[in-house]
Amino acid sequence: MTYSDDDMLMLSGIQHFRFCPRQWALIHIEQQWEDNRLTMEGNLIHQHADDPFYRQKCGDNISLRSVNVASHLLGLYGVTDVVELHPTINEANAICHPRYPGRWVPYPVEYKHGKPKKNKEDEVQLAAQAMCLEEQYGIHIDYGAIFYAEIHHRVEVAISDELRETVALCASQMHEIFSSGRLPAIQQGKHCGKCSLNNICMPESVDCTRASHYLKKNLYEETA
Ligand code: SF4
Repeated sequence: MTYSDDDMLMLSGIQHFRFCPRQWALIHIEQQWEDNRLTMEGNLIHQHADDPFYRQKCGDNISLRSVNVASHLLGLYGVTDVVELHPTINEANAICHPRYPGRWVPYPVEYKHGKPKKNKEDEVQLAAQAMCLEEQYGIHIDYGAIFYAEIHHRVEVAISDELRETVALCASQMHEIFSSGRLPAIQQGKHCGKCSLNNICMPESVDCTRASHYLKKNLYEETA
């Protein structure tokens, strides 16, 4: 199955979907967004990476910023932070660039404000970018990297079959939910504490099993 241009969803949403499907739906279906400290830090990091006219030669590599990518198989489109071009003498899985002679292997790099996370939402976003580049150029990409500002370190990521399957599953579920227009149920957990939409979602208020706790905390304590 391939998606038409009209059905494409934002690739960057896949990290929100992986973090919490409800958060993704609140942002992309209900157009809700609230900045918290973590999202503000993320925006600052990306201001340095997002410059579509930027090209830099770093040693033998070329660094391109804000590269448009899309996959009709996944139904995702977006803009990568950085795509590095690494020189190669192999014909296979390499591309040409109009400004730079020779053959180049694309190597996507995503910039994040925090540090590596347990549920691999950053890796899934990076793999989705790699899969878009693969579809656009008819190549196979083995590796990309995530630069984490908090630890000031670049982590190389293998674009494994497992990551690819997760990307495909997330993309198909995102399309299913988007078509339905319905918000996924609350999945309350530790991640809610880091959620920029906690005040809108109010996970405690609609969790019946914790309703008495919510009332005690938010109603009785206020009137005491
Ligand atoms: S508060 Fe929790 S359940 Fe609600 S959107 Fe955020 S992470 Fe998801």
